[in-house]
Amino acid sequence: MKIRSALFGATGAALVLGGVMAANPAVSQVNTVKQIGPGVYFHEGDLKGNGHCNNGWIIFEDYVLVVDANFPSGAKVIIPKIQELTQKPIRFAFDTHHHGDHAYANRVWVEQGAVPVGHVGVLKEMKKYESGLYGNKPGRWEDAAKTRKDVAESRLQPPTLLFPDSMIFDDGKLRVELKHFGVAHTHGDGWAWLPKERILFSGDACVNGPYNYVGDGNISQWIQTLAAARKLNPKWVVPGHGPMADGGLLADQQKYFLTLQTAGQRLLKTHPRPAAAQAQVATIKARILKDAQIQRYVGDFFEAQLGKAYEEAGGKAFPNKRASADDHDRHASLHAAPLRRLGAPSTWRARLARQSR
Ligand SMILES: [Zn+2]
Repeated sequence: MKIRSALFGATGAALVLGGVMAANPAVSQVNTVKQIGPGVYFHEGDLKGNGHCNNGWIIFEDYVLVVDANFPSGAKVIIPKIQELTQKPIRFAFDTHHHGDHAYANRVWVEQGAVPVGHVGVLKEMKKYESGLYGNKPGRWEDAAKTRKDVAESRLQPPTLLFPDSMIFDDGKLRVELKHFGVAHTHGDGWAWLPKERILFSGDACVNGPYNYVGDGNISQWIQTLAAARKLNPKWVVPGHGPMADGGLLADQQKYFLTLQTAGQRLLKTHPRPAAAQAQVATIKARILKDAQIQRYVGDFFEAQLGKAYEEAGGKAFPNKRASADDHDRHASLHAAPLRRLGAPSTWRARLARQSR
């Protein structure tokens, strides 16, 4: 199967999970609530328009657990949708990692009476990147607030309930295990695993489309982390971005990083000088695009991804900074603000240059 999302579209079959008939969750339908199990819901975020991540929520006997806080505007999209389904209080909002599109609405959830939850690494990462909150120079939140009204109108709230390896929610009927398998997209990626339904919420540690930002993680460790997640043998994977897919999504994502890793290692051998290596990007990109299993992962981040793999193999950074600047900007567009709100490229490039000084 070339594209995971085509899996059900091809047969047109409705999906049955835990006895619940659901609309085909593997077809991309932004801003649509889909029931994917008894009391388990999936909502694909509006990434293009508003930078929103995907969300899930689980309705337990007495409360609701939300997977990913989203941006404040993203949380406000789903809160009424949850309340339409249940009167039960929303008690927990689980940040799969520290990025703005997954964690910046924590304050919004607190105002709803919920406690933000995350792996200990989420708090660590926030202490590293959110220097504004911790009394130093403005950090990522302040940067996002320049272009996002929803961020500017809220304030940063780190998770206050933390787990080192795992945390379990179990009311006798539903069970959700929050897990950490190691470094991947960040140093604090958490996963939500529903063992009965065999549904795995992966955050950005596994996505379904060209959304892999590698700047805060490590490709080699990411491969190992995905190997650990694959041991769960999930039936369904709910990614941080892109449509839901079957369990094979983890293998696709892992193969993409293995391919990048190998390409980076080979590139270092054939082109030890980084300028010459960088000149090979288009050729390597064209080759990987021919691989049907992973072609959907190749996109605007490719040069930065290969650059990272090259560095992890022992090479020096690609000299043309356009690659990493573009990546950072697009990362900002994905994780902080839609690109159209960032203004002319010269403006944000200048801003980035000032910040990195
Ligand atoms: Zn992210």
